[in-house]
Amino acid sequence: MIQLVILSGKGGAGKTSLTAAFAHLANKDPRIPSVVFADADVDASNLELVLDPHKLESREFRGGQFAVIDPEACLGCGECETVCRFDAILREGECCRVDPIACDGCAACFYQCPNDAIQMRSQVVGEWHLSDSAFGPLYHADLQPAQENSGKLVSTVKQHARKLAEEEEYDLLLVDGPPGIGCPVISAVSGADLALIAAEPSLSGIHDMRRALETAHHFGIQTLVCINKADIYPAGSAEIASFCREREIEILGTIPFDEMVIEAMTQGQPVTRYQPEAPASRALQEIWDRVVNHLLNMNN
Ligand code: SF4
Ligand code: SF4
Repeated sequence: MIQLVILSGKGGAGKTSLTAAFAHLANKDPRIPSVVFADADVDASNLELVLDPHKLESREFRGGQFAVIDPEACLGCGECETVCRFDAILREGECCRVDPIACDGCAACFYQCPNDAIQMRSQVVGEWHLSDSAFGPLYHADLQPAQENSGKLVSTVKQHARKLAEEEEYDLLLVDGPPGIGCPVISAVSGADLALIAAEPSLSGIHDMRRALETAHHFGIQTLVCINKADIYPAGSAEIASFCREREIEILGTIPFDEMVIEAMTQGQPVTRYQPEAPASRALQEIWDRVVNHLLNMNN
């Protein structure tokens, strides 16, 4: 089983429409007979909008811990306040309470309290799901707004997807990575064999692509690049191409700006399925063929 992760330095570079097209193309490609999908963009999970999933199983996801003080048991000694490095303990009359927003969950106060007045609790901050999609099994998740721990949720989604792929001997695990370079991206790229970066020729495009490349290289993952909406700013595309050439990073192809991509997304379909002859679909098919060549070489 090979793990391919699709990345971009920031959101809006066409990562999910690329992943959705790959899901469709993989599904009808006899060279890659079986694929498991993981949507690792848990803060803005939208692969499901185009893969038409039917949920088979959902599980709660619990976030990090936070401290709670029992006012009945609190002696008001202030020991917890002394050890809290996050200023999360607030005085309230004769006793203390915890500001759950400021609390880091370190549990220092829990161990320090002389009267066992503090409990550590966790709360449900999201859900992860296994779904049957139009193109194969899909693991995805919803994180509640303004919740942290998205890196841990990405790890959870990936672990389950990987377990299924290994146990049932799937050929490919295709991961739609989160944008940016933070913890969720690190969770998404860990264990990947190959990363494909969707770069966009905007003014910040090279900067965003470099961030994604640096993250992948840090983990020793082979990286490839494709340029999305390459014709909207040819000078930017040329700059991306020159940057990659200098660093011997292969550019698999360019995808032209194509309104059909947006139309397909609004219809809840990968563009390659919605309009196979659209310019973007033809470009995506060529890029997919080159990706498959890399995957097959890695398997040999
Ligand atoms: S350490 Fe325990 S008893 Fe002392 S103020 Fe904090 S919660 Fe209350
Ligand atoms: S768990 Fe840590 S951060 Fe939270 S209140 Fe206790 S000492 Fe402060």
